[in-house]
Amino acid sequence: MQSIDNYNFTGKRAIVRVDFNVPLNESFQITDDTRIRAAIPTLKKVLEKGGSLIIMSHLGRPKGPTGKYSLKHIIPAIEEKLGVPVKFAPDCMGEEAAQLSANLKPGEVLLLENLRFYAEEEGKPRGLAEDVPEEEKKAAKAAMKELQKEFTKKLASYADCYINDAFGTAHRAHASTALIAKYFPEDKMFGYVMEGEIVAIDKVLKSPVHPVTAIIGGAKVSSKIAIIEKLFDVCDNMIIGGGMVFTFIKAQGGKIGNSLCEDDQMELALSILEKASAKGVKLYYSGEVVAADAFSNDANTIICNDNEIPDGWLGMDAAPSTLKEWEGVLRASKTVLWNGPVGVFEMEKFATGTKTIATILADITSTGVFTLVGGGDSVAAVTQMGFANKVSYVSTGGGAMLEYLEGIELPGIAAIKA
Ligand code: AMP
Repeated sequence: MQSIDNYNFTGKRAIVRVDFNVPLNESFQITDDTRIRAAIPTLKKVLEKGGSLIIMSHLGRPKGPTGKYSLKHIIPAIEEKLGVPVKFAPDCMGEEAAQLSANLKPGEVLLLENLRFYAEEEGKPRGLAEDVPEEEKKAAKAAMKELQKEFTKKLASYADCYINDAFGTAHRAHASTALIAKYFPEDKMFGYVMEGEIVAIDKVLKSPVHPVTAIIGGAKVSSKIAIIEKLFDVCDNMIIGGGMVFTFIKAQGGKIGNSLCEDDQMELALSILEKASAKGVKLYYSGEVVAADAFSNDANTIICNDNEIPDGWLGMDAAPSTLKEWEGVLRASKTVLWNGPVGVFEMEKFATGTKTIATILADITSTGVFTLVGGGDSVAAVTQMGFANKVSYVSTGGGAMLEYLEGIELPGIAAIKA
């Protein structure tokens, strides 16, 4: 398999799928440039090795071309970070895009406009009414598949080699993330972001140093079932925190007041408890919580057992005694995976649990424990709290990371490996 390090880029045009889907404020300023910074080592390497770049990405969920989601807003940020001027093709399928890419010289950079201005990128027909007859839907989908082939072929025609560095969209079989790879059978490779993500997750899934502990938090059991079950295969311990713990507690007859609960998931929660014990995984999911009399930072709070929460009160964060117990488990671990905050960390009053976990993880990382943080909100939490550089790896791909952890083969990875 090719890699950025062994590929000869001299005089080659590399089309690189990056994830520049960054948040912008109303003045189109980037509020978090993590994803751009993450892609820079790959982009710089191609330029250093004598190649030129055609950068492609999506931004937001546009339904067609719209200024709001134009990638032109992020040109200054790319120029600043790469240290070279960036040309721009305002239509990724336009004549200008073809011309600009054909004329690229080594060291030059071209950015294509948002791929999702075309429905072909995702390959799903747009604007189909719900009540359209099945036959019509089928025909529209088939027609779109044909258009998608043309779209993909055209993108591929701009370049000599293909790099996928967009882990965040690796779980989608889109034109730029997977389908395009077949046009470069000998000239396709992962970028450093992709490589880093795969290596980090495989370190937990495939060759972990035991004991392995997973901390699974967040709001909903339903969205974490598959990952919990998969992790039972590798974990020695699992800490379950956050809002989803209350579904487990209620399922066992506990009093959870007004805490978050998915009543329709209670049976599943019980079956998870059984599976954990069958697999010999030690679960840590109950203890004292900080409960509040309202879902608000100004609420009154008490500390109580999570199965004795008074009516009208809600469990909002892990209490100090619970955190102490978890700390012992974490400090005795050699590999830790963290997905999902253990409290309503967006409110200062209920951020202590999540902050404490981040602090412990940073500390044990410095003693040689491998710590992987992944999944939207826990990533936001460690970044906000300034711990992103103090853990072993922060995964940038929310949904993609979850699917990879669940054991699903991601199209973006499979297409490069094929
Ligand atoms: P997820 O996207 O499933 O990881 O969920 C993240 C969300 O879970 C965050 O917005 C947290 O505020 C929320 N969360 C964490 N703990 C609780 C809790 N005890 N009650 C309600 N929401 C919670």
